Amino acid sequence: MINSSNSIKADLHNHFETPSRFNHEFNHYINIASSRLGPNGIVGLVNFEDNRFEEFSQLKGYEREFINPEKSILYIPEKRLYVVRGQEIPTKDGHLLVLATPFNSKIYSGMFLENTLSSARENHGIIIAPHPFFISNIGNILRKTPELIEYFDGIETHNSKAALSFPFLLPINSNRKALDFYIMNIKGMDIGAISVSDSHSPEEIAISYSLLKCESAQLSTNSLRQMIRNKHTINGDKRTNSRLSSLKHITTLFEIKLGIR
Ligand SMILES: [Zn+2]
Repeated sequence: MINSSNSIKADLHNHFETPSRFNHEFNHYINIASSRLGPNGIVGLVNFEDNRFEEFSQLKGYEREFINPEKSILYIPEKRLYVVRGQEIPTKDGHLLVLATPFNSKIYSGMFLENTLSSARENHGIIIAPHPFFISNIGNILRKTPELIEYFDGIETHNSKAALSFPFLLPINSNRKALDFYIMNIKGMDIGAISVSDSHSPEEIAISYSLLKCESAQLSTNSLRQMIRNKHTINGDKRTNSRLSSLKHITTLFEIKLGIR
């Protein structure tokens, strides 16, 4: 049960590992998240063309229970930690992050952003723009098509992975651009500014997080959506960079593509 006068720490964008398999036990990931986020912390575990949330929920470890009929929010009582299901979807226009969609549901990749947004809304998902000015970004299309912005519940204004930059190869200052975009174009709307780690290894889980103000005693898709929508400042957020592990992540992706991992 959440004490509604409190703030809670939420790192809503994590993959835990680069490949779609877990190299550690359930409790290892949970212990790290819990030690950094504290009681009632929320960690988003995001599928990427896989079912890692579903698989994770079945690994051996602490007792856990789904607290909503959609089975998109897993609660670990011993650690007072919530794990929220997410899906990161590659669209024709860049990546989209959708949280709290039902267990085993799938939004198809490869569609135009507008169609993917409709699909996310039909699934009652919480819609986030991930790293909007890093690689695979949707920031540019949002600039060109501002009417799409109203679909969103939140914008990542800090993503630890997006801190990596390299002249001519990777975007520069992408987190700064995301925050500026939020301040200039979005701040007056009912859309939140969030900070995430985008972890691809256990060590990076919750190195960045957002401080959310509690909306109700019980976490649900709607209370989480409202907490995100109400977050109009980055005060109290932890915003850490992970340039080295970002580089490692990109290298691992290449190795997987080349079949040597
Ligand atoms: Zn991601």
